[in-house]
Amino acid sequence: MFKQLLALVAITTLFGCSEVASPQKESVKSPSPSQQTLYYGGDIITMNGEQPEYVEAVVERDGKIVYVGDKAGAQKKFGNQGTEIDLQGKTLLPSFLDAHGHFISAIQMVQQVNVASPPMGTVEDIPQLIQKLKDYRDKNQIPAGGWIVGWGYDQDLLTEKRHITKLDLDAALPDHKVLIIHVSMHGAVLNAKALEWADIDENTQTPSGGIIARLADSNEPAGLLMEMAYMPVFEKLPQPSQEEMLELMKPAQMLYASDGYTQAIEGYTHIRDLDFLQLAAEQNKIFLDILSLPGFDQMEAWLDNPKYPFGEYHNGLKIQACKITLDGSPQGKTALVTHDYLTGGPAGEKHWHGESSISQNQLDQLTQTLFEHDVPLQIHTNGDGAIDMMIKTIESAGKTVADDHRTVIVHSQFQRPDHLPRYAELGLVPAYFTQHTYYWGDVHINNIGREAANFISPIKAAKEAGLITSNHSDFNVTPLNPFFIMWTSMARESRTGEIIGADQRIDAYTALQTLTTGPAYQVFEENRKGKIKEGMLADFVIIDNNPLKQKVSDIRNNDVVTTIKEGKVIYQR
Ligand SMILES: [Zn+2]
Repeated sequence: MFKQLLALVAITTLFGCSEVASPQKESVKSPSPSQQTLYYGGDIITMNGEQPEYVEAVVERDGKIVYVGDKAGAQKKFGNQGTEIDLQGKTLLPSFLDAHGHFISAIQMVQQVNVASPPMGTVEDIPQLIQKLKDYRDKNQIPAGGWIVGWGYDQDLLTEKRHITKLDLDAALPDHKVLIIHVSMHGAVLNAKALEWADIDENTQTPSGGIIARLADSNEPAGLLMEMAYMPVFEKLPQPSQEEMLELMKPAQMLYASDGYTQAIEGYTHIRDLDFLQLAAEQNKIFLDILSLPGFDQMEAWLDNPKYPFGEYHNGLKIQACKITLDGSPQGKTALVTHDYLTGGPAGEKHWHGESSISQNQLDQLTQTLFEHDVPLQIHTNGDGAIDMMIKTIESAGKTVADDHRTVIVHSQFQRPDHLPRYAELGLVPAYFTQHTYYWGDVHINNIGREAANFISPIKAAKEAGLITSNHSDFNVTPLNPFFIMWTSMARESRTGEIIGADQRIDAYTALQTLTTGPAYQVFEENRKGKIKEGMLADFVIIDNNPLKQKVSDIRNNDVVTTIKEGKVIYQR
């Protein structure tokens, strides 16, 4: 019965994407009779309050929640018109909200092959990787000479423990241009046709700061290009046309919907991409909530420009805040820290502690201007030195928690305990990134030492300091999978099994808060979504198990059954 009902809803919504595509219609009075759905028969977690709260039933009408409570009351409210969904023991909760990631990358990724190893993908050895590429060629009927681009390649996770070469690729795919992007995003392996296109051969000099791997006893390129040898190639890669990008809006959003998300963040938006997103919104191609953060480097193009109004939805798109990037990444050793990296700088510098992208003075002026224009701020700040700068700038602007400015500190990774009370006083909101404990936990211990590594993304300490926090994937830096994010925040276990800060492990309910109520608060939407509460959007996710009742080690294996945006099924497993 459950399956049939869901299938019915799916047919009436998912397959007519244009009907799905206008989640903001709540402001438009519809003459048609109300659509409504009653959900019951499983654990329904409301995410209302600091302790788990369960209800028996929820009624959705015209995209909003109109009843939350016991089944008898729900039936009274519901009457008998509409769809009844028996959860049959499954769990329903508010849908997940991306707190920080890069939606535009998702558009590019749907045209690429996932050649990652577990848990991001399924590739365990080189033959499997090559099979993936061939399957993609066949499925998409890529003609000879066409491009096959893979992502997520990590030689350390392959059985062979070596880099794939152009010889491996040419034996299987001699007629196509093949380029496999390394998981670091700082390199790729190319086959012969792609190297030819890139104009790289035995006569090409290795640029400074770059790597061109060569075949044994020869000057002939082996396929791998890294850093400065790769960057020009990456920039030259053919981009999809605007028309193709519009077509890709649906599969890109489905990457999120299939992981239970109804909100995606475009976490550093170039004006060109913002214009594209506005066009997509105009053409009703958006069925999630997409929030764009235009970059500070193009402020003159968007500040005070009526074409780019902040804080309001237009057909699913909202311009949320200005994004400032203050420093680099901890794994790249470009985060600004107050103690030298133990392993030197990225190019072997001694006494290296990273850099900020702009000076304190520039940051202060920028912050001042944005506050004067009521533009919210989201500041990429990783190292404790950059966090010190950011605290100073909020102080010099005279802002406190009383101003409710909710400046989001994106990543906030190498935080010190003394920062937390300052965040609370100044009204700063950390958006954490606990997948680092898994992907780079071991690297951080080497680079920065045990103590600082243990305190990365300290959700527990932040909560104790009274802060509302979120947790993100920085997609496509790490996978979107919300259950893997949850698991990393609860287990804090590295790839090699090291525990990265046992005292910062959190419980499942707190982990769910960082994916629902926390992200909603950060974008001033705590009264619109993130909870199951009357008057809020009917944005739900249905999953097989209740994570609040699972063993920690099982949580990462969950997957999404159904994702619902404003009452409509946008994904069905
Ligand atoms: Zn990011």
